[in-house]
Amino acid sequence: MGRRRRRVIRIVKRTLPKVFSCPRCGVIAVRVSRTGDSDTVACGSCGLKYSYSPPPKKENIDLYNEFVDMFMAGKVGA
Ligand SMILES: [Zn+2]
Repeated sequence: MGRRRRRVIRIVKRTLPKVFSCPRCGVIAVRVSRTGDSDTVACGSCGLKYSYSPPPKKENIDLYNEFVDMFMAGKVGA
Protein backbone atom coordinates (compact mmCIF):
# COMPACT_ATOMS: atom_id res chain seq x y z
CA MET A 1 0.00 0.00 0.00
CA GLY A 2 0.97 3.57 -0.05
CA ARG A 3 4.51 3.08 0.71
CA ARG A 4 6.28 6.13 -0.25
CA ARG A 5 9.88 6.05 -0.61
CA ARG A 6 11.70 9.16 -1.08
CA ARG A 7 15.15 8.83 -2.26
CA VAL A 8 17.34 11.64 -1.26
CA ILE A 9 20.03 12.11 -3.74
CA ARG A 10 22.73 14.13 -2.37
CA ILE A 11 25.16 15.53 -4.78
CA VAL A 12 28.44 15.86 -3.14
CA LYS A 13 30.38 18.55 -4.79
CA ARG A 14 34.01 18.24 -4.27
CA THR A 15 34.99 21.79 -4.44
CA LEU A 16 38.32 22.81 -3.19
CA PRO A 17 38.27 25.86 -1.02
CA LYS A 18 39.23 28.99 -2.84
CA VAL A 19 39.79 31.21 0.10
CA PHE A 20 42.03 30.30 2.95
CA SER A 21 42.73 31.73 6.34
CA CYS A 22 45.67 34.02 6.73
CA PRO A 23 48.52 32.89 8.98
CA ARG A 24 49.20 36.48 10.00
CA CYS A 25 45.85 38.15 10.54
CA GLY A 26 43.63 35.08 10.80
CA VAL A 27 41.04 36.39 8.37
CA ILE A 28 39.78 34.04 5.71
CA ALA A 29 40.91 36.21 2.87
CA VAL A 30 43.86 34.47 1.30
CA ARG A 31 43.44 33.77 -2.37
CA VAL A 32 45.60 32.18 -4.96
CA SER A 33 45.65 33.98 -8.25
CA ARG A 34 47.19 32.54 -11.34
CA THR A 35 48.32 34.87 -14.03
CA GLY A 36 50.31 32.46 -16.14
CA ASP A 37 53.69 33.97 -15.40
CA SER A 38 53.34 33.56 -11.71
CA ASP A 39 51.06 32.30 -9.00
CA THR A 40 50.40 34.73 -6.24
CA VAL A 41 49.10 33.86 -2.82
CA ALA A 42 47.81 36.96 -1.14
CA CYS A 43 45.75 37.97 1.84
CA GLY A 44 43.04 40.46 1.01
CA SER A 45 42.92 41.63 4.58
CA CYS A 46 46.44 42.41 5.71
CA GLY A 47 48.22 42.35 2.36
CA LEU A 48 50.57 39.49 3.14
CA LYS A 49 51.57 37.92 -0.12
CA TYR A 50 54.00 35.77 -1.97
CA SER A 51 54.51 35.24 -5.66
CA TYR A 52 55.72 32.03 -7.18
CA SER A 53 57.50 32.70 -10.39
CA PRO A 54 57.54 30.64 -12.49
CA PRO A 55 54.35 28.98 -11.28
CA PRO A 56 55.13 25.60 -9.71
CA LYS A 57 52.09 23.77 -11.16
CA LYS A 58 50.64 22.79 -7.87
CA GLU A 59 47.19 22.81 -6.43
CA ASN A 60 46.07 26.01 -4.77
CA ILE A 61 45.96 24.24 -1.45
CA ASP A 62 49.59 23.21 -1.81
CA LEU A 63 50.62 26.74 -2.65
CA TYR A 64 48.71 27.94 0.36
CA ASN A 65 50.36 25.38 2.61
CA GLU A 66 53.78 26.45 1.41
CA PHE A 67 52.79 30.03 1.94
CA VAL A 68 51.88 29.30 5.54
CA ASP A 69 55.11 27.35 6.06
CA MET A 70 57.15 30.20 4.68
CA PHE A 71 55.36 32.67 6.83
CA MET A 72 55.99 30.53 9.89
CA ALA A 73 59.63 30.32 8.90
CA GLY A 74 59.78 34.09 8.63
CA LYS A 75 60.37 34.12 4.89
CA VAL A 76 57.24 36.00 3.97
CA GLY A 77 55.91 39.35 5.01
CA ALA A 78 58.47 40.39 7.55
ZN1 LIG B 1 46.17 38.51 6.44
